[in-house]
Amino acid sequence: MSIAEKIRELHAWLPADVEVVAVSKFHPVEQLMEAYNAGQRIFGESRQQELLAKIPQMPADVRWHFIGHLQTNKVRSLVGRVAMIESVDTQHLLDLIDAESVKAGVVSRVLLQVHVAQEETKFGFYPEEIYQYMSERRFEALKATHLCGIMGMATNTDDTERVRLDFQAIAECKRRCLEIAPDLRGFDILSMGMSDDFKIAIEEGSTLVRIGTAIFGPRNY
Ligand SMILES: *Cc1c(COP(=O)(O)O)cnc(C)c1O
Repeated sequence: MSIAEKIRELHAWLPADVEVVAVSKFHPVEQLMEAYNAGQRIFGESRQQELLAKIPQMPADVRWHFIGHLQTNKVRSLVGRVAMIESVDTQHLLDLIDAESVKAGVVSRVLLQVHVAQEETKFGFYPEEIYQYMSERRFEALKATHLCGIMGMATNTDDTERVRLDFQAIAECKRRCLEIAPDLRGFDILSMGMSDDFKIAIEEGSTLVRIGTAIFGPRNY
């Protein structure tokens, strides 16, 4: 199946309230354009340099999501250029995004990445850290950053019950945030699900799936 056919099939299949990020890291712009021409508008990249190189080569109405681990010295170059940073994994990073957004005169939309997987290698806040952040209402200090929800990844395993439990834990994190801070506005997004597990993620409440391989094929690292 071509990239365009995969995009069309995915869009036809997805429930109306679920959006798809086409994760295009390591794929050339020609392939992104195939997806774009089939109607895809949200693209996800995980490396700052690669993203900055692709932005000017793609149409202006692309909405870029940054989904990788973001080093603090690279924040300034992304602020104002991406529609969303999904992978905010420390308060330090969040505060820096806010400071740079103030300086740039823009509002940044971000997700808090939560760590639930049974793997040490994944980044993210532990749920308790997020609950503490919310209950202490530290978000009130943000001047130019909109917390839009939660992003998370399931354990990389064939055990679908483990994967489902991880997605339930991620969904629970978002639900509890709103219980702790019910006045948090626009905290709507639950970003979870990748090529191998997005159907389970949607069953567990995902509103944003991040799909690479199932659209573009395997990556050549
Ligand atoms: C690479 C990546 C994806 C996409 O993974 P696929 O298995 O290729 O769909 C999704 N989310 C994040 C955070 C990624 O780094």
